[in-house]
Amino acid sequence: MSLKIAVMPGDGIGIEIVAEAVKVLNHYKDSGRLDIELEEAPVGGAGYDAAGKPLPDETLALARASDSILFGAIGGPQYDGLARELRPERGLLALRSELELFANLRPAILYPQLAEASSLKPEVVSGLDIMIVRELTGGIYFGEPRGIKTDDSGERIGFNTLVYKESEIDRISRVAFDIAMKRGKRLCSVDKANVLEVSELWREVVTKNSAEYPDVELSHMYVDNAAMQLVKWPKQFDVMVTKNMFGDILSDAAAMLTGSIGMLPSASLDANSKGMYEPIHGSAPDIAGKGVANPLATILSVAMMLRYSLDRADLADEIDAAVGKVLDTGLRTADIMAAGCKEVGTVEMGEAVLAQL
Ligand code: NAD
Repeated sequence: MSLKIAVMPGDGIGIEIVAEAVKVLNHYKDSGRLDIELEEAPVGGAGYDAAGKPLPDETLALARASDSILFGAIGGPQYDGLARELRPERGLLALRSELELFANLRPAILYPQLAEASSLKPEVVSGLDIMIVRELTGGIYFGEPRGIKTDDSGERIGFNTLVYKESEIDRISRVAFDIAMKRGKRLCSVDKANVLEVSELWREVVTKNSAEYPDVELSHMYVDNAAMQLVKWPKQFDVMVTKNMFGDILSDAAAMLTGSIGMLPSASLDANSKGMYEPIHGSAPDIAGKGVANPLATILSVAMMLRYSLDRADLADEIDAAVGKVLDTGLRTADIMAAGCKEVGTVEMGEAVLAQL
């Protein structure tokens, strides 16, 4: 039976970049190497425009019925004045929680051809290849009680709760160990076990699980040190696993080591490796509709889909290699443009990847 892929371009450049990534999927479909069926649905601002809410019922139903989701980006200034529950980002957050996509995979890869794009010295970042596994549906962003209240003296107090169940730590650490097995077999668990009880439990559960992965070398690091080490010598890391808030911050720092937001894919997986795949960047209203956005993060998101949800590492490797070859030829979108290279638009870049495939 065909695998069903939901395609959700969203808003802004999401529409342009997803169109190029879909060409890659169709290339494999048309050549008979991948048995897939694609179906498109609106989300974010486009969902609001189509059905009055950022995650229309039909879109959620399609997401549930699909084997994987290719997501573009959401948001735009025209939606900024909407009530909070109608804003585009609500659509993305609702998809993540409705589908229980608890494992966020954020690779930070710097193709050697783009080493100059980083604000760090080329020798520090060239060839960088880190995978950050961030817990996405628990921790302080969701913990209860939360709120702002006024105490007896009349002073206002803001409060949130950092809470993790053992089962939540167990499942995210297993995802990270499994990924480490497919990569360099080194896992660094990042916590704050010197201060937080939640982190003590985190460290205990991760350590217990490591017994089942004797081939993976496990280390632990406090989050403050991890932030320093990421900037000092990031190539020491293979896979990192951490809770929601630490992962939010560290994965953005790691992304910026590469200096090219238009190059970075991501995945959010559930317990059965069903996933939503998307570039890490937003809808870039400043360049939307101009045909200049870099489609490579989205094309690389398709590669992650093939690797982590559809069990087709062979095709994922082909796409990764094709992107490398395109960069070798000197083609660049504006965001990664460098002296001596040729600037191309979104469609030309997508076509160049197809030509390599
Ligand atoms: P952004 O990521 O959209 O853009 C930041 C900068 O990077 C902009 O200058 C943009 O032109 C550039 N950029 C981003 N992607 C690019 C690409 N593929 N090629 C070339 N340049 C690229 O972040 P922002 O400007 O803070 O947010 C814009 C909108 O996107 C907001 O509405 C925000 O809420 C939304 N947003 C959505 C997501 C998501 O869908 N996952 C993530 C972040 C922000």
